[in-house]
Amino acid sequence: MERAKLLGFNIDKYDFDEAIEVAKSKRGHVVTINPEMIDYASKNINFAEIVHHAELVIPDGIGVQLGLKLVGNNVARIAGVDFAKRMLNETKGSPVAFVGAKAHIIEKAVINLKNEISELNVIYTQDGYFTDTERVLNEVAEKQPELLLVALGSPKQEEFIYKLKTRLPNTIMIGVGGSFDVWSGEVERAPEIYQKLGLEWLYRTIKEPKRFKRIFPTLPMFVLKVLRYGVNDVNR
Ligand code: UDP
Repeated sequence: MERAKLLGFNIDKYDFDEAIEVAKSKRGHVVTINPEMIDYASKNINFAEIVHHAELVIPDGIGVQLGLKLVGNNVARIAGVDFAKRMLNETKGSPVAFVGAKAHIIEKAVINLKNEISELNVIYTQDGYFTDTERVLNEVAEKQPELLLVALGSPKQEEFIYKLKTRLPNTIMIGVGGSFDVWSGEVERAPEIYQKLGLEWLYRTIKEPKRFKRIFPTLPMFVLKVLRYGVNDVNR
């Protein structure tokens, strides 16, 4: 399957079900990409390398979907939180590790997930406020999970996963942002109508106005950049 290019970054064009199957067969790093990440990658070569080496890059959110549309690609939006939840359902008892979020959040999220997915086999949990990264990397590597979900926010979660790639060649590893907060029940997900319209970011910004600084001016600048340079992506 052909990949789409956006500002020099490859983005996979699979629909939700296909992306799940590809992740299951390929294993490795799944990046759920948004305009802020593309913006950061364009300024940070190490992060760009991480994205370039990801086994699967899925468009999380309306920004990337819109950007791709502007360069002639119709691609389905795949919310990272839904993708990760489905992947948990697909594990069918194989070992899963969770890293990230505040201690009480990860604890609650795992309890809720175990109630919902009876076969869930959680072999490792670690909250996201550790100082000894080496220790956590070693512990995860030793556990050899089939699925690793990392909720440290971006770029921390992608950097963390990248460091484990050679040690966990058969693990599906996904950076999941604020998903543990949602699963814990402490952070409410946008109502379905916002999700359907691709306006989750608007809902989150209304609820948490400090986010505005993060998405603005990144989002409009991103659209302008795509319009300016996007057509060149085809030839890159
Ligand atoms: N987080 C963490 N350690 C950190 C920074 C963030 O565990 O050092 C967690 C945070 O508690 C939250 C998640 O990372 O659960 C995602 O954070 P944020 O909402 O900032 O990221 P986004 O989903 O917007 O990428």
